[in-house]
Amino acid sequence: MSNLDSLDKIVSLAKSRGFIFQSSEIYGGLSAVYDYGPLGVELKRNIRNAWWKEMTQRHDNIVGVDAAIFMHPKVWEASGHVGGFNDPMIDDKQSKKRYRADMLIEQFIAKLNKDGKGEKAEEIQQLLDTSGTRKSLTEDLYDIIIENEIKSPDSGAFDWTEVRQFNLMFKTQFGATSSEEDGVYLRPETAQGIFVNYKNVLDTSRVSVPFGIAQTGKAFRNEVVARQFVFRMREFEQMEMQYFVEPGTDKNAYEEWLQKRLNWHKSIGIREENLRTAPHPQDKLAHYARAAADIQYKYPIGWQEVEGIHNRSDFDLTQHQEFSGKKLDYFDQKNQKRYIPYVIETSVGLDRLTLMVLCDAYREEEVDGDNRTVLKLDPRLAPVQVGVLPLIKKPELQELAYKIDKDLREDFSVQYDEAGSIGKRYRRLDEAGTPFCITVDFDGLEDSTVTIRHRDDMSQKRISVDKVADVIKTEMKNWKAN
Ligand code: ATP
Repeated sequence: MSNLDSLDKIVSLAKSRGFIFQSSEIYGGLSAVYDYGPLGVELKRNIRNAWWKEMTQRHDNIVGVDAAIFMHPKVWEASGHVGGFNDPMIDDKQSKKRYRADMLIEQFIAKLNKDGKGEKAEEIQQLLDTSGTRKSLTEDLYDIIIENEIKSPDSGAFDWTEVRQFNLMFKTQFGATSSEEDGVYLRPETAQGIFVNYKNVLDTSRVSVPFGIAQTGKAFRNEVVARQFVFRMREFEQMEMQYFVEPGTDKNAYEEWLQKRLNWHKSIGIREENLRTAPHPQDKLAHYARAAADIQYKYPIGWQEVEGIHNRSDFDLTQHQEFSGKKLDYFDQKNQKRYIPYVIETSVGLDRLTLMVLCDAYREEEVDGDNRTVLKLDPRLAPVQVGVLPLIKKPELQELAYKIDKDLREDFSVQYDEAGSIGKRYRRLDEAGTPFCITVDFDGLEDSTVTIRHRDDMSQKRISVDKVADVIKTEMKNWKAN
């Protein structure tokens, strides 16, 4: 079970503790764009590093690239984004709010079902499933909305514009002159930077099929419905790996990666009962996909996709071969044959992942009649791993605390804190998700010991000063989600 029934508490903790801020907040904010603060940047970096290690360091046949955000405009024609990366939108003329036409109809169907009007719901569902076959997609959706008098959810009005296709790519000018030809897009996904470098990697690295290319980086989508904190942003970060395989072996590779990726989410401390895989039905697949599944997390807003695993067939490389005129096939030297590899894609959003990690770690607990908020983060991901605290502000204690602080900084991210009562300091570090606190007191000055206090169960034990780093390392390794 999620510990939260809405995103509100996470949004407010994220802001008050410096994980995530609204972009340009002093100017009133920019919608669906967010900045990471001091704790957020560390958490996000640790998650990114954990992913990178899993996908590259642990595999001898996966290498990385870092492609530019700007790409040749032809890339997006070849990929299908210029022609097809659209959502059908409709505007409420009175409130000026914009809705995704298909989602509006789906909501209406859900309401009919709730009101016991299953037959009508089924009839409209049928029309929705076959939209695009009577007139055009936009006209069919418009007809459903008008004929069923579907009203605007915010104003209650029935005063709609036409349904229009709305491309999700941001376009900007490139270079000093501005002709139509100079227009470039901000990439809406990182995957294409991998496909256009596939030949470069093949020619310069010692890889052969099957092999993978991994990349992390920013992507941009002009999302219309963007009201769910960092779940759906207009500027976000993706972490993608494209795995190139021989046709015929793609089905196995797909199943294998789906399982591997699900296991990875568990390995970073996400509780099993909050994760599931959801295969896409065959008739709902994108035209190029042979199979696809979401890895979903039980967010406070419901079960939602955090990662997508797709069998993309040879669609992308074939398209780029055709549009660029460059050969992108692979020569298998052992079996003396040529083919265009199939691609298994694993694609996860770093911001959605960060939100998942925060939601899963969040707890409110009652302690001695008091409440504490604690983030039970995997210690490897925690933005501050160790708090170093002199019991009180006395030079003798400070001196030893400074020394411990300095030594630990070589291996861990450390925060020194001497402000306020010890209880208050523990609570502050609980909220930041700090798994260990090292407290220096007068007894310890006598026998060279300190107290290690554990975030999860608040237990404490005395350890020798020269063992602090070792103890933390061992306990970090043995940590289990709880
Ligand atoms: P959705 O259906 O939720 O819009 P999608 O199917 O369009 O997602 P993909 O194109 O498969 O998503 O992108 C891969 C991953 O990138 C998603 O699983 C998600 O984690 C992340 N992602 C996609 N769009 C956004 C966004 N607007 N904000 C944050 N993360 C995103």
